[in-house]
Amino acid sequence: MAVLCLRWRITGCEYRLAGFRYAVTVISNAAAKRSPPSTTALQQYSPRNPSDISPTWFAFQQFIGGQESLTVEHLWKQDLEKIQDARPSFCRYSATYSPPACADRKLPTPYTRSPQRPPPANKMALRAPNKNLIRFRCFWKTTVIFEVLKNRGWTETNSELDWDFFWSDVGWMYEFFDHIHLADHQRFNHFRNYYELTRKDLLIKNLKRMKKTLERDGQTVEAGKYNFFPQTYALPAEYGLFVEEFKRMSPDPKLTKLPKGAKSLQEVGVWIMKPVGKARGRGIFLFTRLSQISEWKKDHRWKIENPQVENYIVQRYIDNPYLIGGKKFDLRLYVCVLSYAPLKAYVYRSGFARFTIAHFTVKKEDIVNNLVHLTNFSIQKHAPTFKSKTGTKWSLHSLKMHMISKHGEQEVNALFHKIHMLILRSLLAVQNVIIQDKHCFELYGYDILVDDTLKPWILEVNASPSLAADTPVDHELKYGMLDDVLTLVDMEHKLPPQSLTQVGGFDVLIDQTAPPAAKPPQQSHLLGCYNDRLENLKELRKPARQSTA
Ligand code: ADP
Repeated sequence: MAVLCLRWRITGCEYRLAGFRYAVTVISNAAAKRSPPSTTALQQYSPRNPSDISPTWFAFQQFIGGQESLTVEHLWKQDLEKIQDARPSFCRYSATYSPPACADRKLPTPYTRSPQRPPPANKMALRAPNKNLIRFRCFWKTTVIFEVLKNRGWTETNSELDWDFFWSDVGWMYEFFDHIHLADHQRFNHFRNYYELTRKDLLIKNLKRMKKTLERDGQTVEAGKYNFFPQTYALPAEYGLFVEEFKRMSPDPKLTKLPKGAKSLQEVGVWIMKPVGKARGRGIFLFTRLSQISEWKKDHRWKIENPQVENYIVQRYIDNPYLIGGKKFDLRLYVCVLSYAPLKAYVYRSGFARFTIAHFTVKKEDIVNNLVHLTNFSIQKHAPTFKSKTGTKWSLHSLKMHMISKHGEQEVNALFHKIHMLILRSLLAVQNVIIQDKHCFELYGYDILVDDTLKPWILEVNASPSLAADTPVDHELKYGMLDDVLTLVDMEHKLPPQSLTQVGGFDVLIDQTAPPAAKPPQQSHLLGCYNDRLENLKELRKPARQSTA
């Protein structure tokens, strides 16, 4: 019998559930040897439904009861790789492999990882804040954020807990956040359950719930405005509903081929499948026939009782994107939330459009061509004609100017106002779900697609938007934006106490702390306008200079 001894500490139930499910499988195997708990009980722990993540996690923690080492059978190398792939810091483990007495099948190769760090005892004497010496910790030392933190004059520390400001990945939070006490002045760049907004299926669930709540409360006009997400189903949980809808929309419910004479995808309706736990376009594919899903189901051992099943969303594909030069693009916008209760959020005036390299086409033979349909930079950079110097991005300002030249100011301003409101509504939809914590703030990257009727659609919200700079222009944008995030978070206590409508390149989206007279006008749509961040920062510094004079 091949025995793999896996030492671990599960550090959280991050949205990349794959790791968690594998862990459950491991337990399940071990449990078969050690008897408790029963398989039925284990199945209940298996997170099939996004809404039972937390109870599942707690039940799971209770079950392992602090054990950090279990002997398991049948854990293959690819399973371990999947755990690793899911989130390097999610499971910290080391594994050793003992060869079987009778090697009668393909065996996993030995696998090692650095031993886990012990959890920090929170014995740190909490330091009093010192606004002249700000100690920062940062996980990403090769991205723009590290440069910004350094140039701010702050001091780097690698201390686990003795920092004033920490720009971390979400994995750290799972490991430590619930076990430590932060001093009042410490700031951390994620909210505890940030994934309610950023996991693809939970985002849609929250938007649908908000819409229903508004309808139930008789606010039908406002409910009607929650129409900015494509029709979406979570799989496998809502597979039945999806099939019903697919058949209803399809010209021929039993469609196995495109109807005779149909050349374009628009004639049959296209859907897009997206794994909820992956990013950068990985695992995404388009389809027009149910039979294509059946093949996928087979490939993914997609059985309800299989705890290894990968959660997907299936979404109506927006097949009429707005094109420039015949190419599809989506928008990346930045939003900084300082607090959820009361809600206080700012949207960055600049952003960019990410273009595909290939011309957009709805020809059925191009359905598998990701260079046509997915705008992710990580996909486009592999195109043979990709030029690293120019990239595939356009600034939001250039895009807006181009659109104004085609459609006039009024129509384009209306589009940008819709985008502004879409972001605001998405935050309102999770306001009561996200756990407020005064130590937390978050920078989100919104992905928005505009269709050829100038309607914006929300595709995704990212909790850790890429902070790598591909070109000098990209660097300038991200540097300024991140510097302004730090100004907003105000570790140095330089901002005036009153509510501000602009901080650097960030314009207020909503500020529930502001007195009614200071609330931003509903029609404000400075998105894509000239970014006067430096002038604004100069203005903001003025009162401080006068008072010290
Ligand atoms: P990821 O997290 O992998 O980047 P996204 O949801 O952002 O996943 O989708 C990746 C890309 O696929 C988007 O940038 C967009 O170009 C395209 N896309 C995603 N969903 C749709 C959709 N419903 N309609 C049209 N294009 C889409």
